[in-house]
Amino acid sequence: MNVSTAQMNYGKLKNRVETGEQIVYYKRGLEELSLNITNACPNSCVFCIRDRDAGWGVSNLYLSRDPSVDEILSEFDNESKRVTEGGIKLKRVKICGYGEPVLRFNDLFPIVEHVKGKHPNVEIQLATTGWPYFRYISEDSAPIKKLREAGMSHIFLSLNATDNDRYKRVIKPGIDDIDEDAFSDALKFAEAVRDADYDVTLGFVRLNGIDENDIRRLSNRLGIKYRMRDFEN
Ligand code: SF4
Repeated sequence: MNVSTAQMNYGKLKNRVETGEQIVYYKRGLEELSLNITNACPNSCVFCIRDRDAGWGVSNLYLSRDPSVDEILSEFDNESKRVTEGGIKLKRVKICGYGEPVLRFNDLFPIVEHVKGKHPNVEIQLATTGWPYFRYISEDSAPIKKLREAGMSHIFLSLNATDNDRYKRVIKPGIDDIDEDAFSDALKFAEAVRDADYDVTLGFVRLNGIDENDIRRLSNRLGIKYRMRDFEN
C-alpha cells in the first residue's frame, strides 16, 4: 500500500523555518546515531516538540522532502565512517524522523539490511506510535515479523496513555478526524512486535493525570516493559 502523505501533520514550524536535508543526528552521544526519515505524521501529540523547536535545539530536522533510501544509506555510510574512524564504536541506530517512520515501513527493509551488513552487532531501533502501521501499511502482522528477521531488533512504542479516552486527548491520532480505533491498534502493534520477538519498550511522557499504577498494570498485562520520560521543553 502506498502512503499518501498529502494530508499528514508536518508540525507547526514546517512553513516557518528553513527546511533542509538533515538525515543523521545525535541526541545521546556519537555511539547512538538517529536517522530522520520523514516529517509526515498522522498524530498531533500535545507534547510534540516539532511545534516549538526545529530539532532539539541543536539540529534542524525539518526536511524539504522525505529523503530517498539511497540518500539515507549514503548519509549513514558517511557519518558512521566518520564516527568509527574517530575511534567510536557505533552501538545503536535509531530510526525516527521528525515524524512517524512506520509510514515508510517498506523502506525500513533495505535500511536495516544495509546497516546490519556494515555493522552486524549494532542494535537497530524503530521509534513509533505503532497504530499507523495497521491503517496505512497493512492489516497483516506478518511483515512485522519479516522486519525482525531482517535485523530490526528494538521497538520503542510511544504509547503515552492506558485508555482510549486519554489516547485521543494526548496523541490526537488521525488527520481529518480523531481515529477511534488508534489506541486498540497501538496495543495490537505492541502484541505483534512482542510476539515477533523484538525487544519492546512502551514509552510514556510524564504529563498531568498519567497514573503509573495504570501503566504498570498495562505493562504486566502485555508482558512488555515500560519507560517513563520527562516532558522535553
Ligand atoms: S508521533 Fe511524534 S512526530 Fe508525531 S505528533 Fe507525536 S511526537 Fe510529534
